[in-house]
Amino acid sequence: MIASLMQKATRFLYLMLNVFPRRHLIAASVVSCCLLILAAYPVSDAKANKQISEQLAIPIQAAIIETPAPINIEPSLRWVEQSVGSGDSLSTLFSRAKLSALDVYKVTSSKDGKLLRDLFPGESFRFGINQSGELEELHYIQSRLVSRIYNLEDDSYSSELKELEPDTLLSYREGIINDSLYLSGQQANLPDKLIMELANIFAWDIDFVFDIRQGDSFAILFEEKYLDGEMFAVGDIIAASFTNRGRTYDAVRYTDSSGSSSYYTPEGLSMRKAFLRAPLDIFRISSGFNLRRKHPIHKMIKAHRGVDYAAPRGTPVFSAGDGKVTATGYSKANGNYVFVQHGQTYVTKYLHLNKKKVRRGQTVKQRQVIGTVGSTGYATGPHLHYEFLVNGVHRNPRTVKLPQANPISATELAAFKLATTPVLTQLAQSGTTIELAQLEQASSPQAGAANAN
Ligand SMILES: [Zn+2]
Repeated sequence: MIASLMQKATRFLYLMLNVFPRRHLIAASVVSCCLLILAAYPVSDAKANKQISEQLAIPIQAAIIETPAPINIEPSLRWVEQSVGSGDSLSTLFSRAKLSALDVYKVTSSKDGKLLRDLFPGESFRFGINQSGELEELHYIQSRLVSRIYNLEDDSYSSELKELEPDTLLSYREGIINDSLYLSGQQANLPDKLIMELANIFAWDIDFVFDIRQGDSFAILFEEKYLDGEMFAVGDIIAASFTNRGRTYDAVRYTDSSGSSSYYTPEGLSMRKAFLRAPLDIFRISSGFNLRRKHPIHKMIKAHRGVDYAAPRGTPVFSAGDGKVTATGYSKANGNYVFVQHGQTYVTKYLHLNKKKVRRGQTVKQRQVIGTVGSTGYATGPHLHYEFLVNGVHRNPRTVKLPQANPISATELAAFKLATTPVLTQLAQSGTTIELAQLEQASSPQAGAANAN
């Protein structure tokens, strides 16, 4: 990377040397000499460096770590910091900073004083106290990005909101599943939040309880938020691909003209479909999140017309799609059950629930919790028995043909292609780089395992 930066800097210098003297060929050679020096100078200019680092993205950006300078620090002030803990009020914080009740009153009775009424743990204050012991400046730091500065002017406080704009950079991770998506995500140095988002993006296509196999793989491009060269948060997944049992699904995030963001296939079909593949919170099935197979919980029952998801008692059960609850109750065989009608054609049934969370006649949204996993009725252990009916006939929910996804509107398609093509190309190219690197390391026993960056 440093070599590449040097290369860019050299190229930049070369360009400057070429452009400037040519423009002044008529001038005396002495002037040219001066210009040469001037021309070389802007390379060390901060602006030029910024341009170069922007092109090079992540590692360089991370390398330019500047000491985070507090806002408007006056050297004559003595600074005291206090963090808001649970149960803290403005009075307790002021008193810890050796300030009086009168100081509290003066700040809170100022124009924006009421904004200090609701404090939350994690927020903090910086008290700037002058030589006569007065609170001259107060920084109310709500987050890494948002703070409010109170300034003492003529015995009263005025305030100003400071919002910092983070730099957003794209990062790439990929992994191959050996035991579970969760573990391979961790090996790929992927934050938990993104592992969950990844599974949620593909939750309509892939049953993460039953369908995941060893050798399945994923690749994602996601946002990282930087402030002063330091990464402080992860943003959204921008594009992702998941290869399940040899079939690759691609998804890309797109914000439409109305401002709503969603994931689509590269062709512009919504990833969101009428029915979820697995109607329960897969992240609660810790070890089963991997290669758990069907097991004969129901062997005592003659006709078994659904799918069983073994899961810990209390695991949230979702409605597989938008619909209306047509029945809830208890029977000796089914235990606690909930039936949901989806339009005219489909009915889904959820049996052996520990708790029911909906009432008959209630409208439910897809992924709304309708109950929790239990072992009520004929069940040897906690599991969800899930049935899927099409026009009153039981169908295998894992293989039944489901309604098609909605495409992006025709008027948006051009904008969609324009916005998403570069991202999908970047996702594909990042993968190629890693694959080449893996080929080079083919002798290593770790080759082919999860790779970070
Ligand atoms: Zn069953």
